[in-house]
Amino acid sequence: MQTLSVILLQTEQRLKPITQSWHVESRMILCHVLKCEPIELVLSKSKILSDLELEKTEEIVTLRLMRKPLQYLLGVQNFYGLDFYVNPNVLIPRPETECLVTFILEQTDKSLEQKGKSNGKILDIGVGSGAIVVSLAHRLKGYSFVGSDISVEALEVAKINGEFYGVNDRVEWVHSDLFSTLSHEQFDIIVSNPPYIPTEDASGLEPEVSSCEPHIALFGGKDGLDLYRKIIPAALQFLTPGGLLAFEAGHNQHEAIESIFKTNGYVEIDHFCDLNGIPRFIHGRKLPIGG
Ligand code: GLN
Repeated sequence: MQTLSVILLQTEQRLKPITQSWHVESRMILCHVLKCEPIELVLSKSKILSDLELEKTEEIVTLRLMRKPLQYLLGVQNFYGLDFYVNPNVLIPRPETECLVTFILEQTDKSLEQKGKSNGKILDIGVGSGAIVVSLAHRLKGYSFVGSDISVEALEVAKINGEFYGVNDRVEWVHSDLFSTLSHEQFDIIVSNPPYIPTEDASGLEPEVSSCEPHIALFGGKDGLDLYRKIIPAALQFLTPGGLLAFEAGHNQHEAIESIFKTNGYVEIDHFCDLNGIPRFIHGRKLPIGG
């Protein structure tokens, strides 16, 4: 009998060889197919699946066994409490990037207190799915935003997420190679999670990442730092005096990035760690006037 509990068990067994997350992934697949919440799986174990439901489950499991990321198959990844639509044109938002959003939110609290300012401007360079900028815009109602990406296809995904969360009236989406087509306005905060994986590390990546995610969103040149070398000097023209530039980066990159900040005359240069203790986030400020 094709009951839910049998199908769930079979799905788990099939996924075990390819992922440690077989338990949660099996449940996510069945919830997606049955359009239900995880708790409902527990409550309807003896439900008989229809032919269509069985077919859909089979289709997803088959592709997953080919190491397609589950997020692309289900079309969704949760980030900072919001569900983001994703497809293979965008990097799947990672949980560590949530720390960068928390940091920016803390900084905006401070700048509100310090400057009595509630109408700041924030730029996100390389929005991908829009996870960072949409999460910020969803919470910072008094701010306006620019989200840029070099990929038109990624911008389409970001716009869909912006529309879903009702922030597109405050986010201007710009197709741009870094700052190239941005108008010359200044931002209180510039944030970016640029591609930072060193090209030579490609062979060490999981197949889900290396074969399926957009390389343009992953690889940052030989040492992974190409984009920091371009963004840090160029950002000075686009920051207000005292404005903040904040990045995510990879393992062992924070010292080199801090030194690029220093060379370019930034102040208050510092970094902080992700939840695994990896120093992954680096930030600095443009010199305040007369500072
Ligand atoms: N964090 C991603 C990974 O490790 C890389 C994202 C990026 O390059 N910005 O796969």
